[in-house]
Parts: sequence; structure tokens; C-alpha cells
Amino acid sequence: MQKVKIFIAEDDEVIASNIAASLEKLGYIIAGHADRGENTIQKVEEIKPDLVLVDIHLKGQMNGVAVAKHIHSYFEIPVIFISAHADTLTLNNALPAQAYGFLIKPFEARELKSNITMALYKHDMTRKLRESEERYSLAVRAANDGIWDWNLKTNDIYYSIRWMDMLGYKEGEIGTNPNDWFKLIHPDDQKAFQVNLISHLKGSTSHFEYEYRIQHSNGRYIWVLSRGLAVRDPKGSPYRMAGSQSDITARKLAEERLAHDAVHDALTGLPNRVLFLDRLQNRLERTKRNQNDLFAVMFIDLDRFKVVNDSLGHAVGDQLLVTIASRLKLCLRLDDTVSRLSGDEFAILLDVIKDHSEASQIADRIRGQLKTTAMLGAVERFPTASIGVVLFNKSYSKAEDLLRDADAAMYHAKSLGGNQYQLFDNSMHTSAVKLIRLEGELKRAVERKEWLIHYQPIFSLVDGKPMGAEALVRWLHPKRGILLPKEFIDVAEDTGLILPIGEQILQEASIQAKVWREAGNTEFWVSVNLSARQFQDANLVEKISNILSITGLPGDGLRLEITESVAIRDTEYTIKVLNGLESLGVKTSLDDFGTGYSSISYLKQFPLKVLKIDKSFIQDIKINEKSESLIKAIITMARSIGLEVVAEGVEEEEQLAFLNLHLCDQVQGYLLGHPIAADELTKSLQIKRNKLS
Ligand code: C2E
Ligand code: MG
Ligand code: MG
Repeated sequence: MQKVKIFIAEDDEVIASNIAASLEKLGYIIAGHADRGENTIQKVEEIKPDLVLVDIHLKGQMNGVAVAKHIHSYFEIPVIFISAHADTLTLNNALPAQAYGFLIKPFEARELKSNITMALYKHDMTRKLRESEERYSLAVRAANDGIWDWNLKTNDIYYSIRWMDMLGYKEGEIGTNPNDWFKLIHPDDQKAFQVNLISHLKGSTSHFEYEYRIQHSNGRYIWVLSRGLAVRDPKGSPYRMAGSQSDITARKLAEERLAHDAVHDALTGLPNRVLFLDRLQNRLERTKRNQNDLFAVMFIDLDRFKVVNDSLGHAVGDQLLVTIASRLKLCLRLDDTVSRLSGDEFAILLDVIKDHSEASQIADRIRGQLKTTAMLGAVERFPTASIGVVLFNKSYSKAEDLLRDADAAMYHAKSLGGNQYQLFDNSMHTSAVKLIRLEGELKRAVERKEWLIHYQPIFSLVDGKPMGAEALVRWLHPKRGILLPKEFIDVAEDTGLILPIGEQILQEASIQAKVWREAGNTEFWVSVNLSARQFQDANLVEKISNILSITGLPGDGLRLEITESVAIRDTEYTIKVLNGLESLGVKTSLDDFGTGYSSISYLKQFPLKVLKIDKSFIQDIKINEKSESLIKAIITMARSIGLEVVAEGVEEEEQLAFLNLHLCDQVQGYLLGHPIAADELTKSLQIKRNKLS
């Protein structure tokens, strides 16, 4: 161990050398000696001894106390006073120097030794404590935490500047009573804060830690985390508690945002399905306790929303959904919940209603609100919705069941044409279940291609020859046998399954057309029906072009049939697609003409080639004169703008004769040929050709 170096400041030479001798005997090194205050400071600064013995009386301007003070504050070297006087005045004067000992002359060597040992030890401890405090305060400053220190005996609390700054206060602006702090805590967090604090003070928890809201001086609440630790006496009673405070507002807000986003719809900000079901379940539980209060669930699905989305684009669809969401909110009371379940489906929990008539009033209000024009980009829409309503009764115990039945009622409203509301009854349950099953089966049918295409020939009235055939799909259902389109096309359309189904039909029909052409029917074509969804498919032209090149069928070997309602939805788009098809050589027919908008002058703008008069008019021939004149007018006008006219549903000779007389181009119907399998049509084409040759 290194020897301790001691400096002596003593004006009496004799005493100084005595002390020096004692020190050397005790094993210390004499670092130096001075008899004047000024010298002492200068030498101590140079030599840096481990300890200085200072006589209170020194020669020169500075006395021992001033010297000791200087050494203490500038050099941090421990000082022990030596003095002949121990009166109160001298002692009091000496205090500010913060010396580590006081020896009264004359003293013995062992007193000297004990004083020096103690002083060095205490000085070392103080240094370590100061270093650790500095480290701690640096860490606190780096962590940006505030500090509090509570004297439990006096009930005084100290806050660091940062602690107060966090809350927007300056020193002295917050009282030193802890209640001045506690009263700023958010009322909802007060109780839990107290419980946590008290249980730590009582010793039940190893430390105190609590996150809570506290009021900033600007009136707003911020989130803080407080941690603390009580200091206890040997009996375990706390007498002091100190801790930190960190601002966690940013983290809390982010957490709240995440929690909010998890149960809300990003587009409309409405509660999502999870939150809706949660609230509904709560409502159910509440009713269990009071059987008399009634509530209802509404399921809302926009009519033909997919058309908006497909034809005007998703951005416009989104805009419509946001509008609808805010309109729905307008129709409801504060306690009701409106939620967006998915896509264009919304659900409403009517928290309290008197009876079903109140629910129907609200449904009417909603329909009224929705109907007001929504401007979508440049397009005006009058959104309508199908609404299903279910009233609570004791048989319900699960939120999901209520929602399922409201959904079934909505489906029923939709199946009746939409734009209406239906109250749930049990029979709807079965039909909804059927629909769900059908959807599942359709998916499987797509995978296994359970399609059977029948072809119905279309004849020229000029020479009676078969010119082409319409492809009509049938579903070869593994259990229910052959199903007609009306039993599944709508569901396929609603679920989007029509896209894969339609593509499979287009492919197969094109392959078949190619077969017939190669068998010698060189100008024969096959006409395929396209649904709305297929037509709205932005890749339609590309898909058709691919099918043609894969099958090797020339464009004029394929025709497509669309209905008016599909064509007039978005004029610009329709024209673009029809032009695209025309460039492939594919002609497009307007199917079921007469049942819809039916304005030939309006149709002029579309590059259409064929018009099919709906069978309902054909069947009116010889029955209804109005229909007859309509057919005549259609044929005349269609011919005038260069359209081929086809009559479908020809069942009677008289109908055929009428159409012949009025110069209809082509006919199709049971009278001339039913829809039949491709093989059968192949045979009859064979016969016809043989007859011709
Ligand atoms: P559509 O395109 O108007 O087809 C004509 C419908 O009339 C066919 O019914 C056909 O079998 C029937 N029909 C033909 N001749 C006569 C007749 O003389 N008298 C009567 N009363 N009916 C006759 P189908 O096959 O049941 O098809 C019904 C509808 O289903 C079709 O009407 C078409 O809109 C749709 N459809 C058929 N196949 C497909 C398809 O592959 N894709 C799409 N998207 N729709 C299809
Ligand atoms: Mg058709
Ligand atoms: Mg038709």
C-alpha cells in the first residue's frame, strides 16, 4: 500500500517539527510544511498531499479556516484542524471549512493517528457517495425522468426541476405537500394509484410502480409512469420514499391507437365486427337481468355496391362507403352502435326499442337517408340497401346468432329485389343456410368443372340454315342432377364465382366452336352469355383474346351476349370494351332486348352488332297487338342502324311466320331446336349438311 502523504501548516516551528516526528513514527510521509496561509495553499496545490493538518492560527493574511475552506473546495483534500483553543467561538468559526477533525494541542500520537485514519476513511466515503450521486443524477438526466423524494415524517415532498417541468410547473408552483401532487391525478386513476402506493408503504409490494394520467398546467392530461421505493427503519416502518416519474404519453397514445385500430374499421372509423359482437354480447348479458327491455340488430347490405366498385373503381367505392357510414350515424341515437362488418355490410345495434314497429321506423329512416344523392366523382348515385332486422328474444344467448339471423333477413330482403327491409322469421334461417351451402358447392363445382354446356341452334330466316348456337350452361350437380342457370347464376354473380365459371364456359364453348368449324361448318359460331361481373372485368378483352389464340378459333367464331342493364351502366367503359372485342372480330349481341331501357337511338352509340328480342315479346305474337307492333318497330329500327336481329323463344309456327314476314334475320326457339348436348348438335348439323349437299 502506498504511504499516506501529509502536509503540515503550523506557524510554530517547534510544534511543527514535533508533529512531523510523530507522523514519521506513525509511518506517514511528510509531504511538506508551511507557516503562512498563502504558502500553504500554493504548496498543497503543487504537492497534492493526501491530508493537510492546519493550525487555525497562521502567519500572513489568511488564517487556518480560510486556508482549510480553500483546500476543501478547490483541491478536495481532507483537512484536520489543530488548535490550542477549543472554545465555542473558535469551533463555530471553524465549521464552514468542513474539516474532518479537530485536534487540541497538545495531543498524543495515538490521537493524531485515530484522527487521521477516521478523516481519510470519511473523506473516501464522501468521495464515493458523491461519485455515485453524480452517476445517478447523470443517469436520471439522460433518462429525462423527474425525481421525487418524500419525507414521510414531515410529510414534505421534494420534486426535481424535471419532475415539475414535465407537468408544466416552475419551482415553487407546486406545494410540498404530497396531496398537491395527488390531486392532479386523473379522477379515474386516483383510486388505483392510492391502492398501489399504500400497499407498497405497508410492505406488501417490493416496489411502487403505476402508470396514470396527470393534469398538466395547461389543463390537459399526460400519461406518466411513477416508480418508487420506501426506505424503512429497523422495525420496517417507512420513513422516506423516493422515486422517479417518466412521461409515457407518446407510448400510451401509440398503444391506444393500436388498441383502437384493432377493433375499428380503418376506412370509416366505425367499430369493426369484433367490437360489434363484443358490444352485442354485453347487451345480451344486460338483458338477461332484465327480461323486459328489448333491443334489435340490423344487418345492412348496399344494393349493387359491387357494380360501383367494379365500374367506377375502388376509390369511388370507398368514398361511397364513408358517406354511407356517416349517414347511418345520423339515423341513430347515442347508445346505438353502427359497425362496418366488411365490404358493403354494416350492422347496427339498436340499444333500446319498444317494439318491432320502432325498428321498422328506423329502417325507413335509414333507407330515406341513403337514398339522398351521393355524388361519386362526376356520377350521381342513389344508394339503396337491403336491411334485415332481428329482435331479441329469450332463445338467443350468443351475439353471433343474432347477427346471423339479421343477415338471413337481409338476404331475404335482397332476394325480394333489394331496397327494402325484412324482419327475421325462422323460415329465413333455412333459406340462408341453403344459400351458404350453395356457395360452398359452387366453389367445389368450379374446382371439378361440373359444367355441362348445352347448345341451342340459331337459324337464318333467309335460307333456313343453322348459323350458330347459343351456349347455355347447366350444372351437373353430383346429388341434385342437372340444374338450370336460374338456380345458381345469381349466387355465382353475388359471390364473384361467376368469374372462374364464366371463363371455363368461354373456354369450352370456344373449343367446341373450333371443332364444328373444322368439321366443315366453316362459318358456324357459338354465342356465349356474359354476366355483369364478367363484363366489368377490366381484363375481359385480354382474356377473350387469349382464349381465341389458345383454341385457334377465329374471332368471328365467337359471339358474346350482354344485357342492356350491363351495357348502360358505364357508357364510356362499354364502348371501350365493345371496340376491343370488335378488333378481335368478336360480335356482341344485346340479349333480352325490350325488357329494360330499350331505346334504339340510345343504343346507336354502342358498337353492337346483334340485337336479341326477348322471348316474352315473341310469345305475345297473335296474343297482344302492342307487342306485335313493338317487334315490328324494333326490327325496322335495328335494321336501319345495321344491326342483325335475332328472335329468341320461338315456339309456334305463327310466331315464325310473323317474324319471317317482318324480315327478322335469325330465330332461336323450341320450335326449331332445344338446347342440346354438343354431340347431338354435331349429328343434326351433319344431317343438315348432307341434305344441302
Ligand atoms: P338467355 O340468354 O336469354 O337464354 C335463353 C333462355 O331461353 C335459355 O334458358 C333457353 O333455354 C330458353 N329458351 C330457348 N328457347 C326457348 C323457347 O322456345 N321457349 C322458352 N320458354 N324458353 C326458351 P336457360 O338455358 O335456362 O338460361 C337462362 C338464362 O341464364 C339465359 O337467358 C342467360 O341469361 C343465363 N345463362 C345461361 N347460360 C349462361 C352462361 O353460360 N353464363 C351466364 N352468365 N349466363 C348464362
Ligand atoms: Mg342469351
Ligand atoms: Mg335472352
